Amino acid sequence: MRYLSRRVDFSAMHSYEVAEWSKEKNKEVFGLCSNPHGHGHDYQLEVMVKGNLSTQSGIVVNTVDIKDIVGKIVESELDGKFINKENAYFHNKIPTTENIVNYLWETISPVLKDCELHRLQLHENPFLFATKEEGNMVSLTRKYHFCAAHRLHSNKLTKEENLNIFGKCNNPFGHGHNYYLDVTLSGEPNPITGMIVDLARLDDIVETQVLNKLDHKHLNLDVEEFKDLNPTSEVVVQVIYDMLSPHLPNLQKTGLWETEKNFFEYAGNGDSN
Ligand SMILES: [Zn+2]
Ligand SMILES: [Zn+2]
Repeated sequence: MRYLSRRVDFSAMHSYEVAEWSKEKNKEVFGLCSNPHGHGHDYQLEVMVKGNLSTQSGIVVNTVDIKDIVGKIVESELDGKFINKENAYFHNKIPTTENIVNYLWETISPVLKDCELHRLQLHENPFLFATKEEGNMVSLTRKYHFCAAHRLHSNKLTKEENLNIFGKCNNPFGHGHNYYLDVTLSGEPNPITGMIVDLARLDDIVETQVLNKLDHKHLNLDVEEFKDLNPTSEVVVQVIYDMLSPHLPNLQKTGLWETEKNFFEYAGNGDSN
């Protein structure tokens, strides 16, 4: 089986408003998104399909065909539209990223040719995306940022071994990074709000439980959790998962970008050692 993906972009407007609720209640639940006049996003949709390789052509399916099929749906149903008003599916459903990706899954998967839909990822902006993968519930990933210093040094290794493994990252004073944190939750969108999680509540939990403790800190010296732990990104991403999981029952995984080139992920499956 081979997997390939094609990106399709579109712009659309939406508003988060439950008709039966008062203006105040909508504002309380959806914040700025409740503006009935709407607001908009430049969405990026990544379409991943799977299929068998044709030995004759050397391809599974022409990516131009995916672009044409998906592009036609996106163009007629979403692009340049006020989704709530101009797409019948969303007349009684809030067009959250989670609901839009589910809608796109239902719409795209039956019409693909010579391949099957494997995964859809819809980016609403660089800090929020929803993912729908075959056999799985939809998930939502929110990206956060913090800066911190650390020193890579293990108490279980000798001075020479530490220097050998960690090189200049073993500098006794430490060094720092611009970290980006991906927090992913999965579940069925709430039938009324269309959300897997209340984003304001999620932001609040991440800020209180993680960012306030780590941002602009020296991980080894300022953060209790790393008193006896070597703050490698493998360890940091797990510590962050453990900070969040008691507060977020549908937490699926945490991802940590140490730099733009280094990414680490932890899904709560414990240590193998
Ligand atoms: Zn929006
Ligand atoms: Zn480092």
